[in-house]
Amino acid sequence: MNTVNEIQTEESPVLFHQLSEHDYEQIVFCQDKSTGLKAIIAIHNTTLGPGLGGTRMYNYKNEQDAITDVLRLSRGMTYKAAISGINLGGAKAVIIGDPNKIKNEAFMRRFGRFIENLSGKYITAEDIGTTTRDMEYIKMETDHVTGLPEIVGGGGDPSPVTAYGVYLGMKACAKEVFGSDSLSGKKVVVEGIGKVGSSLVARLAKEGAKVMIADVNEDALIAVAKEHNCQVIQLTEIFNQDMDIYAPCALGASLNTENISKMGCSIIAGAANNQLANEKEHGQMLLEKGILYAPDFLINAGGLINVYTELIGYKREIALAHAEKIYDVTTEIIAKSKKEQIPTYLAANKMAEGRIASIGKIHLNY
Ligand code: NAD
Repeated sequence: MNTVNEIQTEESPVLFHQLSEHDYEQIVFCQDKSTGLKAIIAIHNTTLGPGLGGTRMYNYKNEQDAITDVLRLSRGMTYKAAISGINLGGAKAVIIGDPNKIKNEAFMRRFGRFIENLSGKYITAEDIGTTTRDMEYIKMETDHVTGLPEIVGGGGDPSPVTAYGVYLGMKACAKEVFGSDSLSGKKVVVEGIGKVGSSLVARLAKEGAKVMIADVNEDALIAVAKEHNCQVIQLTEIFNQDMDIYAPCALGASLNTENISKMGCSIIAGAANNQLANEKEHGQMLLEKGILYAPDFLINAGGLINVYTELIGYKREIALAHAEKIYDVTTEIIAKSKKEQIPTYLAANKMAEGRIASIGKIHLNY
């Protein structure tokens, strides 16, 4: 049997090693036997403000998968807030379990009390597996929650704001590549026509782009194609397609070696999180192929901007005005990438880290 000291030296460092690798501030395990709640809150960095990130509920295969996911996602939120000029840090929560089976009012309120115990260091919002209704239950126990329905003073569905940011990021890329930011006549493939994708399609179609759409949902394809007069293509044909712009708005990791090798487009700009299957390898590959990649965490930040606006008094015009800055920041990132001969994702990471470091220095002076 291990002694306490042996456990500390042999086992604890595994998690602490994971935390120190990317300098996470805090990880909180929440357990409640009566409701069956098992949740993990990861707070990555609060230099710029309290850590904000949604609560994802998912039936993880094991606890390690849940830990890995919450760590990865919370770090991503730090970068997204920093690059968006928002005074928030990065955090995220995951709840282990099937959202269709064990979620109810008592369950979400118990989770809300755990959030309350963190005294505002963590602010939650909805994510995959949680809804605005769940946020209302959490709100019964804590004020540290955003993403509430419009009728109770929240910002409602953030997807139109996200789509607006993606559209502007795409336009900034078009300006660089085609010399004009007009998307009229440009062949754009939108993969995934859910809440964000369909809103993006509406903007593109209005501007006169030749929009092609692909999705696993046949009914949605028929409806969107009819409404915006666009062409439906097979998912298997996306990367062989004659297109100017590829907009991934479904799942992440579609930018892998196989797909990039086939691609003949000039720009990639979409809403999906973590589009690069391997950031370093595939970011470099796109640079070498001369495909301009708009970093996902920069141009899809409209959702975060929307919930941030909720914290300061929600008005959709304010959220949209803030999201408008995505155009200029994308232009800056492109310039930095060209000047330093580095992939755009790296230019964006460096800019985000630069902002955190400069504000961090200011904090140290107090
Ligand atoms: P959604 O669930 O409304 O839409 C996703 C769409 O993708 C659906 O139409 C679905 O049928 C389709 N899809 C699922 N699997 C697919 C597959 N294998 N191939 C092709 N299509 C597939 O989600 P959403 O809110 O529109 O978000 C889209 C993406 O943008 C997600 O990756 C999400 O994480 C990211 N994102 C969304 C927001 C937001 O404000 N909603 C903010 C930031 C990032």
